[in-house]
Amino acid sequence: MTKNSDVNGGGPGSIRDILGTLDFDPDKLKRKYLAERDRRIRPDGIDQYVEVTAQFSRYVDDPYIEAQIHREPLKDEVEVVIIGGGFGGLLAAARLREAGFGDIRVIEKASDFGGTWYWNRYPGAMCDVESYCYLPLLEELNYMPRHKYSFAPEIFEHSKRIARHYDLYANACLQTGVTALHWQEDTNQWLINTDRGDLIRAKYVAMANGPLSRPKLPGIPGISDFKGYTFHTSRWDYGYTGGDSTGGLTGLKDKRVGIIGTGATAVQCIPHLGEWAQHLTVFQRTPSSIDERNNAETDPLWAAQLEPGWQQRRMDNFNTLVSGGHEDVDMVSDGWTDIFRNLTGIAAKLAAEELGRPLTSRERADLMELSDYRKMNQIRARAEAIVADPTVAESLKPWYRQFCKRPCFHDEYLPTFNRPNVELVDTTGLGVERLTERGVVVNGREIELDCLIFATGFEVGTSYTRRAGYDIVGRQGKALSDHWSGGLRTLNGLQSHGFPNCFFMGFTQTAVTVNVPHTLNEQARHIAYILSEARTRAKTVVDVMPDAEQAYVEEAQATTRQGLRFYAECTPGYYNSEGRPGNRNGFFTDMYGAGPIAFFEKLEKWRAAGNLPGLLLE
Ligand code: NDP
Repeated sequence: MTKNSDVNGGGPGSIRDILGTLDFDPDKLKRKYLAERDRRIRPDGIDQYVEVTAQFSRYVDDPYIEAQIHREPLKDEVEVVIIGGGFGGLLAAARLREAGFGDIRVIEKASDFGGTWYWNRYPGAMCDVESYCYLPLLEELNYMPRHKYSFAPEIFEHSKRIARHYDLYANACLQTGVTALHWQEDTNQWLINTDRGDLIRAKYVAMANGPLSRPKLPGIPGISDFKGYTFHTSRWDYGYTGGDSTGGLTGLKDKRVGIIGTGATAVQCIPHLGEWAQHLTVFQRTPSSIDERNNAETDPLWAAQLEPGWQQRRMDNFNTLVSGGHEDVDMVSDGWTDIFRNLTGIAAKLAAEELGRPLTSRERADLMELSDYRKMNQIRARAEAIVADPTVAESLKPWYRQFCKRPCFHDEYLPTFNRPNVELVDTTGLGVERLTERGVVVNGREIELDCLIFATGFEVGTSYTRRAGYDIVGRQGKALSDHWSGGLRTLNGLQSHGFPNCFFMGFTQTAVTVNVPHTLNEQARHIAYILSEARTRAKTVVDVMPDAEQAYVEEAQATTRQGLRFYAECTPGYYNSEGRPGNRNGFFTDMYGAGPIAFFEKLEKWRAAGNLPGLLLE
């Protein structure tokens, strides 16, 4: 960090002129951030969590099944199998249908389409990315979301609407988990085994199994001892709590409820728990950054004047702004675009314009850091202004840079701590100590509970195949777990050498964007293009050339390194593999670090080349 005196006392033409007087000491804040990080770093990193298998497997049972599906095992052949019926799978199916592929089967563990929106039905669940950008295929389906930020039931309904529109139900295998995938050299097909004894052969497979799909639990002593009622937020038990995703949790009126975790999920459900539980204890390890939400109903007049192509234009506009690019107009204009405008390359570009010269890399880094301190001061001041008890307000202040953890936007979360029946137990970065038969122990104090809810998130940082729950065996019996043992190896994040006709969707060496369905849509289009080209050329096998894969791996890794340096200074969380950003399986480790604007352009140029560079067609 630049010395305080350099920043506050910089002469004319310095970034000091851009920022104005600083009402804080950046060096002091930096020391505080690092101390808060150090306090949370643990030697066990991601191993602190227990896997939801064996005695914990009940935490992933599906509480939402309306009717068990009974069917005989299948032994058949389809052209395309898509594994996963969330947005990735739905978009892949939609783009393939549009490209003329009729024989598509979606295999999905859940009882319906929706993916994350099938599972996450907790009270208050909603998407804090603008609905007009986030909900896929709005123009194709002629659907307009009811609010600027949609609530979970509407998003789940929309998922089903997409499945109906593209006629995906008839051939889908719901309540079905894939157990193995083997490439068949003799027939040039994938053989897919499932937990229902199916033997399905497919020419192509698209893996759309989602990055945050496997719940995790804290590996604390006594985790199995608690005799009260427990569940994970992604398997909300309304049979116990009463009510539904809109609230009305009448079953909790006489219950002492505890919740472990204060991430994006907890932030949305805690206001409802606070409203209905007799008493709510929130166990916090690290507070989230909570900015304003400002939801609003969709204005029908605005919706009526939208011109064809509006959704893609809006998605592009949003993506540019949240990826550090410039747009004359901010169509979405919300907390996300505001943060990115102030904390990314846009701010640096504007500063350079103001100074009439390019910023040095040091000036640029200082500008970002100082703007970040300022933004987070505003977030901390917000907690202080809303929460009445100064000690509680202090505990709710996040001490890290904005993008160290996922920013949250909520208008009812902080006020919940003013309720007389809500207690915040600040574990000062250490987490809860242990569970007992009766409740939770923190700092030697046992808090008795009737119900304990785990808002402890999802498995991240383990290998792709562990999270999928099975390996993928490609050409010459090579397992994907071997091929990716030193990190992801792909071409354009989508295909891997030796695993022909198999396409990976989601966060596999691709570019992360706030609006995840945007990336999924680009991937879906790309897959549809490749399959169409193979069909036009009468080819049946599409593999990646090893040197093309190697070149892409090097390019992706080179661009990711800078981001990893940022995360090294962050408080632990799933973004930095609990304080170990070098983890080869980490969330941001094997991304395409140049960002989504560059990545989407790269895919587009690749398609425009017309000769499928790096692919081998047989
Ligand atoms: P997270 O992983 O973000 O949060 C898990 C929480 O559990 C953290 O607060 C963590 O604390 C806490 N925790 C873990 N172990 C312990 C322990 N031993 N003692 C006390 N606390 C503990 O999971 P979420 O389900 O909240 O969110 C996952 C992701 O899902 C989000 O980041 C976001 O990407 C997505 N999401 C998106 C939403 C949207 O609006 N689009 C809404 C909800 C979720 P610590 O921080 O210290 O690790």
